[in-house]
Amino acid sequence: MKTDIEIAQEAEMMPIKNVAEQLGITEDDIELYGKYKAKISNEYYEKIKDNEDGKLILVTAINPTPAGEGKTTVTVGLGEAFGQLNKKAVIALREPSLGPCFGIKGGAAGGGYAQVVPMEDMNLHFTGDFHAITSANNLLAAMLDNSIQQGNVLNIDPNQVVWKRCVDMNDRVLRNVVVGLGRKVDGTVREDHFVITVASEIMAILCLATSYADLKERLGKVIVAYTYDGQPVTAKDVKAVGAMAALLKDAMKPNIIQTLEHTPALVHGGPFANIAHGCNSVKATKTALKMADYVITEAGFGADLGAEKFMDIKCRKAGLKPDCVVLVATVRALKYNGGVPKDQLSEENLDALKKGIVNLEKHIENLQLFGVPVVVTLNQFITDTEAEYEYIKNFCEERGCEFALAEVWAKGGEGGKALAEKVIETIENKPSNYAPLYPDDMSIKEKIETIATKIYGADGVTYSPEAEKAIANIEKMGYKEYPVCMAKNQFSFSDDKTKLGRPTGFKINIRDVYVSAGAGFVVALTGSIMTMPGLSKSPAAFGIDLTDDGKITGLF
Ligand code: ADP
Ligand code: MG
Repeated sequence: MKTDIEIAQEAEMMPIKNVAEQLGITEDDIELYGKYKAKISNEYYEKIKDNEDGKLILVTAINPTPAGEGKTTVTVGLGEAFGQLNKKAVIALREPSLGPCFGIKGGAAGGGYAQVVPMEDMNLHFTGDFHAITSANNLLAAMLDNSIQQGNVLNIDPNQVVWKRCVDMNDRVLRNVVVGLGRKVDGTVREDHFVITVASEIMAILCLATSYADLKERLGKVIVAYTYDGQPVTAKDVKAVGAMAALLKDAMKPNIIQTLEHTPALVHGGPFANIAHGCNSVKATKTALKMADYVITEAGFGADLGAEKFMDIKCRKAGLKPDCVVLVATVRALKYNGGVPKDQLSEENLDALKKGIVNLEKHIENLQLFGVPVVVTLNQFITDTEAEYEYIKNFCEERGCEFALAEVWAKGGEGGKALAEKVIETIENKPSNYAPLYPDDMSIKEKIETIATKIYGADGVTYSPEAEKAIANIEKMGYKEYPVCMAKNQFSFSDDKTKLGRPTGFKINIRDVYVSAGAGFVVALTGSIMTMPGLSKSPAAFGIDLTDDGKITGLF
């Protein structure tokens, strides 16, 4: 069997200008980054902005195994399938982070015959957007420390600097560092911290900003520190906004690449869904909706994280209305949720499947709370058995839930036709009454409690003294209306990653809370979740190489 990267490298790509041409975009309206990657120009968006919107389809999943459940694979395959049915479809994905590429999970280009290409470029440096975000983030950090150094006219308390540096790598030793060691000219000594770039507020801002003016306004609101008397200091106060915006100019433009079957894919922005808001950029989604009749997008990790934030943060803030949700399940993840260890997921085990399927059940119930019709799809693995498949299909149908098998990993678009037809039928027959889960004017605590009890199934929420204090302060500063971005592990509905399936009788523990004033949400950190991952004992990086003739191997 061929690996993902072998399939991707054998693909015959179309020049990206020809892919764009199929959508009526001329070479003038794209900015080429080589032959197979481009950015969509701002002028092009101006031209199409009054077009009618296409239908918006969200792909989400049950709680995953550590390998991922194939949301990107299904998203890409579904896009290819729409193409095979002669429908005008555009895929809208996130850009991968180097953390998982070299960590456990691997890249984010999809898999098998449902991939976007060029896969290596997209998974590695792509068009430099993450570099621009990292640079803007760290420019702000440098200007903040310099403001303290040059007489500290803003009266910044070095012990209350909240802005963190970032790097797009799983690098645990940077979680807590000391900066400014040395002589007086080397800066003020203070404890500092790094987050992974995909958790940076700059990433969230890039993904939510709708124009350069909006970008600058959001950057200006970013809180970087507090003064000795507790007043917030912003990026605007340290005069960093213009220079940061300049660094982000091109990164704000959506990237276009193609699937193995030449379906266009806008790949733009990439916050993680466990520690950040988990969705691709609003700009790319809105552009795609103007370009196509069907837009298929993915939100990260399970629906408790990705879909909830897609609905409650992205759609609420951007005025988007999803028409259909595709909920991806795999036999493997259901068995994993039923307690089977990672290395035994390939063996038939109906008992574990029956035990784990409560996880799917809870996700179906949750998605129905948002008023959007749901189609469950089983992402087929070659190890799945007929008995396992029949069991899941009946389970869904007994609950009045649409169901279709996705064979896109093995067959590309051809294997996604049944799912695409089911999605079209659902959109035509079931109206979407999308509404977010909670109103803007609830208190921060009520919002957290609504998500914890309704989505996670918790009995309640506990707060650390730090979190209590932070919430009171955030409300006092005037950010009560903001939605909440939960930072929680992706494996469990609870904040304990070992509680699989559909846990009950637990509380969500809020460790700390902070406001991302520029992004426009309040982040609540649960359990022991961290905003800088580490590498495992045997990271994917061990298997990645470059041949003497310049071919990358081992990426997946
Ligand atoms: P997600 O987006 O849910 O995190 P991905 O689509 O990135 O998951 O898939 C994760 C990995 O699993 C990829 O390496 C992909 O090749 C592999 N994969 C996905 N679907 C299948 C399948 N049906 N059979 C075998 N491998 C698969
Ligand atoms: Mg994915």
